[in-house]
Order: sequence, then C-alpha cells, then structure tokens
Amino acid sequence: MLSFERSIEILNEIQINQYQTQKLYLMECLGYVLAEDIIADHNSPAFPVSAMDGYALRYDDMELERVRIAGITPAGFEVETVVEKGVCVKTFTGSLMPKGADTLIPIENVTVEGEMIKINQKVPFGFAVRAVGENYAQGEKLIARGTTIDFAQIGVIASLNIVTLAVYKKPTVAILSTGSELLEIGETQTNDAQIRSSNNYILEAIVQKYGGKPLQMGCIGDDKQSIAKALSQALYQSDIVVTTGGVSVGDFDFVKDVIFEMDAEILFKGVDIKPGQHIMVAKKGEKFIVGLPGFAYSATVTALLYLVPLISKLQNTRCKIQKVKAILEEPFVKRSSKSEFTACNLSLREGRYYVNFRDKKVGTSAILTNMLGEVALLVTSQTESSKQVGESVEILLLA
Ligand code: AMP
Ligand code: MG
Repeated sequence: MLSFERSIEILNEIQINQYQTQKLYLMECLGYVLAEDIIADHNSPAFPVSAMDGYALRYDDMELERVRIAGITPAGFEVETVVEKGVCVKTFTGSLMPKGADTLIPIENVTVEGEMIKINQKVPFGFAVRAVGENYAQGEKLIARGTTIDFAQIGVIASLNIVTLAVYKKPTVAILSTGSELLEIGETQTNDAQIRSSNNYILEAIVQKYGGKPLQMGCIGDDKQSIAKALSQALYQSDIVVTTGGVSVGDFDFVKDVIFEMDAEILFKGVDIKPGQHIMVAKKGEKFIVGLPGFAYSATVTALLYLVPLISKLQNTRCKIQKVKAILEEPFVKRSSKSEFTACNLSLREGRYYVNFRDKKVGTSAILTNMLGEVALLVTSQTESSKQVGESVEILLLA
C-alpha cells in the first residue's frame, strides 16, 4: 500500500495549470491569499515629518541660549515658515518639518518665555525627525504574492491607498456525506439503525476554517445511481468535491466505484495510514474529488491531511497545518505498522510544546470526541514504534 509520505508527494507534485483569481475590495480580503505583489508607489513618509511635539530648529542653534518661535505648524497643514538662524517653529507629531529645520527639540526639553524658548536639554542632530522613506521606500516590495491577508497586510495596503486587490479565489468545496443510516441535523429519526451525521458538518467547518468556500450538499443514501448523480452535480458546482463514506470494501460502498467510473485520474486509492486507509483522491480536468472514509474521526483526520493542503494548493500558498516537535508527557503506544495520526492534548510551556493523551478514548475511528479540547495530531511513521515519556515527537498543529 502507498506510504503516507508518498501520498503527500503525489499531492505536492500536482501542477495547477490556471489559478483562479478575482478582484476584491480591501476589507473583504481578510483570509484570502494575495495574487499580486504589493509594491510601494511612494515613499512613506514622503517628506521629513516630526515624530514628537516640540520645536523644529537648526541643530546648531541649540548652542544659543534662546530661540524665537516664528510660527506654528499643526498636523495636516502645509508649513510656510522657513526656519532660519535663531528661530524655531512649534511642531507636532505628524506635522511636516519646516524647511531649514533638521532637528526637533521636544516640549519637555524647553521652557517657553513669551515668544522665545529656552533650551534646557539638548538633543542629538535629527532628533525626532522621521526621514523620508522611514516606513517604506518607493519601489520596495512590501508583500509578496502568496501571502495570506491578515490585519497587518490590510493596514499596510490601506496606507498605500490600494482599494481593490487581486486575490486567489477560495476554492469551492462541495461536501457530500453518504450512508443510508445518516440523518441530518433536525431530521426526525424513524428507525433505530439511523445515526446523526457529523461528517458533512465538521467538513463544512474545516473548509471554512482553512480557507475554502463550503458548498453543503447534505447526506445521501447508499444508492449507486443517486451517488453518481449527486457527485457529478457537485463536481459541476465546485473545484473540489469531498465525500464521506462508501470508499471501503462493504457491499454498499459505492462511492469508490462511482469515482472509478467517472473517467477521472485516480491519484491514489488506499494509503498505509491509521485512521483512514481507504482514502481516495482523484483529479478530473482541473477539479478534484476527495473520497474520505465514513468513520467520523477518520473523515476528520484525512480531511486535515489531504483536503486542507489541496485547498491551499489551489490558492498557490502553503498548507496552514504545520508539523512541529513536541515532548511526550505520557507513553505512546503504537498500535499498527501504519503511519498513525493520534489525537493528543497540546500545551505550550516556556516555548515548548508538550502532548499527552489524558481523557482520550481508545477504540474505533468513530470517536470524534477525541478531537475536542486543545488538540493536535501526533504523527508516527510506519517504521516508528511505541514511545517513552520525554521523547521528542512530531505533531500537526491545527491552529
Ligand atoms: P463507511 O465508510 O460508509 O463504511 O462508514 C463507516 C462508519 O462511519 C459507519 O459506522 C458509519 O455509520 C459511519 N459514518 C458514515 N458516515 C457518517 C457521517 N456522515 N457522520 C458520522 N458517521 C458516519
Ligand atoms: Mg457507509
């Protein structure tokens, strides 16, 4: 069976021929990925500006006992007065420095005596003057294409007077759960064999959280024809179709058959991982089909492992789930020779991650409650075995 590492390589090797971009108003861009470089078209500040409240003067004039106040320049007004020998201009934070002045002496350093100031404490040359281009210089690349837009990017882009931005479109992810036993939330139960679906809801949340646009298609029974119809409908409306259930070896597991019969390129079917070994990923044209297993914990983990990177890939950016090192606070029992992904409790103390398995249940891959709390996924490869307290391990950070 395909190793986990190889399955991820296959995902990474996929070439995206045409990224989809759109223009959005700046304040709609939070969480989107930038599709253009942001380059400063001006110097900031464009002119020398005062960084404190005080008096703009010539550095050499601090040798004089007293300097005459020749004018005042509030922020937002152009300054006419030229600072010559023996004079100063009252200047505020954000005001343009008057011509002729090279230094700002703060209010706290002088005593005002009528129209004169007496200098009590000198400051170095150029004190409290923001130089041209201090913030950024014209032509400087400030934000690179591929950056996810967060609050700092919004602020800097606003300061550049950029109103609309080219961003990668968030891929639409159609979500379809399969299983004749499934009830959607609010639906009335009519027999004891029915269970409440969680998969299509958790997937909608995952897609939303990790930068996709969910298209909820609900639950559908184990009927091959209905599945085929729903899948092609979903594919038509989205960039990625993600299904749950029906990829295993049961008599009613039709999803895999439908995907096989769709004339799609099967990237892989079956990976040596626990949970989720029946995972299936296919590509049809420029679109993707991700067939996840039905068990709630398996569906969740495999969505994090395969769907989330695909969502990032379609936006030409790196996956938001990162692998970091942590220290085991409890022994870890490896239960198989597969790559295992085990829910653990995560804590951060003095700059180090620690993990343990307190209150985590051992059982089938149906135990979704193991994903509650400050959770991370402990990653162990095929060749790794059980581990002792204090050992360094790899975890996936889901933040
Ligand atoms: P399957 O992969 O279809 O064989 O399903 C495996 C197990 O996962 C079965 O016990 C199903 O009842 C359960 N399951 C399937 N779909 C869902 C779902 N949408 N939400 C919660 N559990 C599910
Ligand atoms: Mg099923």
